[in-house]
Amino acid sequence: MAHRPFARRLGPGAALAAAVAWLTLSAAAQGPAPGGPDRVARLLAAMTLEEKVSLLHGAVDPDRVAGAGYIPGVARLGIPPLRMTDGPAGVRTTHPATAMPAPVAVAASFDPDLARRLGRAMGLEARAHGQHVLLAPMVNLARVPQGGRNFETFGEDPLLAARIAAAEVEGIQGAGAIATLKHFAANNQETDRTSIDVRVDERTLREGELRPFEAAVTAGAGAVMAAYNRINGTYASESAALLTGILKRQWGFDGFVVSDWGATHSAAPALTAGLDVEMPRGTHFSTLPAAVAGGQVPLAAIDAAVGRLLRQMDRVGLLGGIVTPAPGAGDAGTVADVRAHAQLAREAAVAGAVLLRNEGDLLPLQSEDLAALAVIGPVARVPLVGGGGSARVRPVRTESPLSALLQRAGPAARVRFEAGVDLDGVVIPSGALASQDPVDAMRGRALPAGTTRTWNATLRVPEDGDYTLMLHADRGQATLQLDDDVLIGRQPGAGPSTGPALDGVFGGVFRLSVLDTVDGLQRMAVTRALERGREYALVVTATAPANAAQHVRLAWVTPGMRRARLAGAVAAARASRVAVVFAHDESTEGHDRTSLSLPDDQDTLIAAVASANPRTVVVLNTGTPVLMPWLPGVRAVLQTWYAGQEGGSATAALLAGDDNPGGRLPVTFPRRAEDAPTAQPARYPGIDGRQEYTEGIFFGYRGYDQAGVAPLFPFGHGLSYTRFAYGALRATQQNGRVDVTFTVRNRGTRAGTEVAQVYVEPPPNAPVPVPRAALAGFARLALRPGETRTVTVSLDARTLEYWSDGDRTWVPLGGRPFFVGASSRDVRLRGSF
Ligand code: BGC
Repeated sequence: MAHRPFARRLGPGAALAAAVAWLTLSAAAQGPAPGGPDRVARLLAAMTLEEKVSLLHGAVDPDRVAGAGYIPGVARLGIPPLRMTDGPAGVRTTHPATAMPAPVAVAASFDPDLARRLGRAMGLEARAHGQHVLLAPMVNLARVPQGGRNFETFGEDPLLAARIAAAEVEGIQGAGAIATLKHFAANNQETDRTSIDVRVDERTLREGELRPFEAAVTAGAGAVMAAYNRINGTYASESAALLTGILKRQWGFDGFVVSDWGATHSAAPALTAGLDVEMPRGTHFSTLPAAVAGGQVPLAAIDAAVGRLLRQMDRVGLLGGIVTPAPGAGDAGTVADVRAHAQLAREAAVAGAVLLRNEGDLLPLQSEDLAALAVIGPVARVPLVGGGGSARVRPVRTESPLSALLQRAGPAARVRFEAGVDLDGVVIPSGALASQDPVDAMRGRALPAGTTRTWNATLRVPEDGDYTLMLHADRGQATLQLDDDVLIGRQPGAGPSTGPALDGVFGGVFRLSVLDTVDGLQRMAVTRALERGREYALVVTATAPANAAQHVRLAWVTPGMRRARLAGAVAAARASRVAVVFAHDESTEGHDRTSLSLPDDQDTLIAAVASANPRTVVVLNTGTPVLMPWLPGVRAVLQTWYAGQEGGSATAALLAGDDNPGGRLPVTFPRRAEDAPTAQPARYPGIDGRQEYTEGIFFGYRGYDQAGVAPLFPFGHGLSYTRFAYGALRATQQNGRVDVTFTVRNRGTRAGTEVAQVYVEPPPNAPVPVPRAALAGFARLALRPGETRTVTVSLDARTLEYWSDGDRTWVPLGGRPFFVGASSRDVRLRGSF
């Protein structure tokens, strides 16, 4: 499970290790092994029931190599262990791996070929790290803007997500790893994710959430992960309709279905519904031998599940067959070259960056701008490489945007850095603790392994106001109590502790950071209004894990410190030609965002900087849309998502104009939270454990269009440092296929990338409600200044159909008007077929 943030961390400073040596990891090229089915049949015939069942659930990896999951294998028959690891933004083990930009940024590239190359790189690195199954990609749609894992998705449009997912799967599998489509299905929010019952009609499911799964199954994915949630009353991991009916029968999926970690609720019902493998342990499936003996499970069902697993193991060369390169694997690189993968990560960061606003072409910055630059925001200095949870990767290297900008600006430039908002604070001094020593078990004072220490103090504050109280720690457990309130610590009902880590602490009053402190610790923070003159009883306890010392300290941010930080940023902005504010949120698995606004006074900061300097640029490091009350006051906004380990240099190059932002929004940015199609409690977060998908097929931009609500930035939006002109439209039809041909010209003076998008509109007399506009195809075009390209986009067949609930099949909708746009709302050409 992802609720083990501290256990998954490495030592302090890891994230800042800018000079980690480049590694070259070796991975064997793998592909389908001839003779596989026979070999699988022979193995099945030779195995005992117990051996078979041991392959159907996870166990502890004795070698501690597995990133997330381990199946022991059957040594007697030469079946080796199978190792599984996260995830969608790079390979997650305890070792460094290339931290790719967040999947949402990959979707923003609208570039399936890039997704294929990223998949291939991750597949090669997985194998180089001894992992066979990559728990990626996540292909759920970004349905609610609050979704904590939206950064792991490919956005809100089923066609875009389908194309990107299918390509990434081809890349992963072509590299000899097993791709896992997750989380099947309708896992679109983190709130109550393990229990929420999604009420959804079949048409909505088929036309939305299921399309990327279907496309990626067709692309050859070897595994599918059953989600935590329920669908129409049944746990996804026990849904025969989904796992057997749709996935295995209708789509012909021949890989194995693995449960999400801890998402299995039964043995016989789950297995017979179509779940093949329980992870991470055999809580339920280890009882399968008894279920077979008792007649609840036919042996054939066990054999079918084991056969599915073994065939995938065989395909990636684990069963000793002669391995040939997979078709289309090209050079099937025999090494995972992390230097080349860093280049790829950088390319993706540039390709996925979306220029949302650029009034008066303030960007790219000119040399005189770089010569007198204010760089503001904590994530300018501590790069926010990725989102939190199981997608978090230990990067091979990182570089902060600040250091990349300093380098780009040159030694003569005057670059002023200010954090603007204080995330780390300072250790609460003894003066405020009624002479108790500060809680500061750092360096030589670290808590020895296996020990617990308690500090009791009386806290007094210098003025009335909001105080952020924080525990910083590198591992172990720590709690903070103020008077009778446990502000930081294990929450009641968090379940048993499964390790040395602070697991189960999500979901309380405090926030666990995704971003490390400047010196590489994790931060748990809570903000409280405190009064001068009052005395607060404060208790801190810290427990080091059995096998390692713990660094821990108690810090705060006072109202005075906040004012000073803000004033520093304003002064730097005023003294500079241009101010660039790096703003961020910390999206994470396990938690939805409680607000769409930027956290931690960042709105105040941006507004203050913008009023001090009219030439203000905002760079957003956010997983999903944020509200922008300050927008009219800033000249430019560049959305770089979580840009991966090369995000710093990519961002500096984009700001300076060495590269041109190539991304377009894969999600709608609303003006107000209430404008989202899911902004009704029954739709999100649900009522009494139920969540209704009653927006139906009007999800994402389809919902804004239907309601006639203008978003802040529409789906598909993204500017460039150059401009494009469209022309010469024609549509042709052949054998039921619709091709749309047009020209795109770069009419500016810089090279740039346009994403031309084709949207279909409702046909006359549609038998069912259909969206005002639905993406039916797109083309990403890199054009030199003055270059014109003729492009043909074949419209996606599924988008031209609807799912008939009555007939339980896809039905063509026939001819209809369409438009070619530079976004879902920037219509450039109109036609019909
Ligand atoms: C997540 C999965 C992940 C798994 C293993 C679960 O909590 O939902 O996406 O692959 O943990 O880490």
